[in-house]
Parts: sequence; C-alpha cells; structure tokens
Amino acid sequence: MSAMSEVRARIAGFVDFSTIDWFGKLTTMVFLSGCNFRCPYCQNGPVALGEGEVVTMEFVEQRVRRSLGVAEALGVSGGEPTLQPKALREILAVGRRLGLKNFLETNASNPSVVLSLVDEGLLDYVALDAKAALTPKRYAEVAGISAKQAEDAISCLMELVKGLAERGVGFEVRTTIVPTLVDSREEVAEIARKLVELGCRRYVLMQFDPNGDLIDKRLKALKPPSRQDLIDLARAALEEGVSEVYVFTREEGLELVQR
Ligand code: SF4
Repeated sequence: MSAMSEVRARIAGFVDFSTIDWFGKLTTMVFLSGCNFRCPYCQNGPVALGEGEVVTMEFVEQRVRRSLGVAEALGVSGGEPTLQPKALREILAVGRRLGLKNFLETNASNPSVVLSLVDEGLLDYVALDAKAALTPKRYAEVAGISAKQAEDAISCLMELVKGLAERGVGFEVRTTIVPTLVDSREEVAEIARKLVELGCRRYVLMQFDPNGDLIDKRLKALKPPSRQDLIDLARAALEEGVSEVYVFTREEGLELVQR
C-alpha cells in the first residue's frame, strides 16, 4: 500500500474484469466521474455530469487488488479522467506498483496531462476519441460543446495524436458511428485522412448503443448501425491510408477490416 496519499478521486465505479475497454486485455477498469463534453449519444449521462463518490487512493488500491492474478491491466476511463489529473496519476501509479499494464480512455481534450503520464512511464496504451470531422461546427454538434470549445478540442486532439505517435506509445483513435449524427463515408474519410497525417496507424469505428442513460434521450429511438454499415465506413478509412481499421459491434466484438 502506498504511503497515505492525500489525493482523492471522484469515481463513478469499477469493473473488475473488462474485455471491451482495452480490447484484447483483461482489464480492471476505474471510471472517474465528470466530463467536459456533452456528447448526445453518451451512455453515461449522470457520470458525465459528475455523479459519483469521493474515495481515497487506499480504497482504489484495495479494490484493484481484488482482481490481481487474473487481470492483466488497469484501465482508467470516465467521464473524462484527465479532469482529475492528480487522481489519475496516482491510480496509474497503483497499477505500476501492482505490476499491471496501464490503459487510459480519453476524449483527447487534455493532451498535456496524457503526454506527461506517457513521459513518466505510467501508460502502456491510450484509446482516444475523434468525435467528428475536425471542423468546429461538426465537433461542437457531436461533442455537445460550444464552437469555441470545439476549436480547442480539435487542437488538443491533433496535439495528442501527434504527441503519442512521436513517442511511440501504443494508441488507437475511436469514432462512435451514430445514425443521423456521425454516419457518412465523407466524414469518416475526412477524419481518417487527418489521422494519417498526424501519424495514427490504428482507427476503430464503434457501434452506437442506444441502451444506457443517454444524454439526449431522443437518440434512444435510433437503431444502432449494422455491422455491415460499419465495415463499409471502415473501408472508406482504409482508402485514406490508415494502416489498421477495426469495427466494434455488440454482436461480434472487435474485428479487423480487410481492404
Ligand atoms: S461520451 Fe462524451 S460526454 Fe460521455 S464521457 Fe465520453 S466524452 Fe464525455
């Protein structure tokens, strides 16, 4: 156990064993509460808004220890975990002390926090979101933020992708495909083109899921895109030169799409 840290984390919960956060690794997940985006399709509306409880690092460590010997990795997600940089750092330090690989899921809005953690050797793999085409108008619509925030979010995303690529740490960029919101070949191709320019090699298209506590309840009436829809969009990304494009569906899990 670490020497009594003063740091507290506002958490939404834990998942002892997840295979759908860091794909391919059995991961204990910690979900930090609060987010600076308001994506209408977010499945964790109350968590994004900050619902959760404040806990000590000792509590987090005890909880993570329960999965030791089985889980390969410790992951932190949210909400947006970089909004609690001290807690995030300490949780990842717990992972290191316990001999686990460390994983982070982020909306890419805090590149300096993520890149510092990489530089400190605290991260092994990062999954980050590209919500929409990198124009303020589209980003604002899809992330539920103002045009000014969207401009900043786009700069941050570009800085983070570039910084991760330069450092050689494992990472992937994810876009959630939501019918009527983000579902066109043109938009996916535009995102992919930019990602290639920035040095991203791995891109994942995620299937929108209407279950859960969505921020915009009207989206609950939408049908998820089909696996074939996602594969068609993945081909558009492949045509832009991304090395590896995957689709993730509830039916089949993660699949690499061939040209
Ligand atoms: S889906 Fe959007 S609103 Fe929800 S936690 Fe992620 S970035 Fe925040």
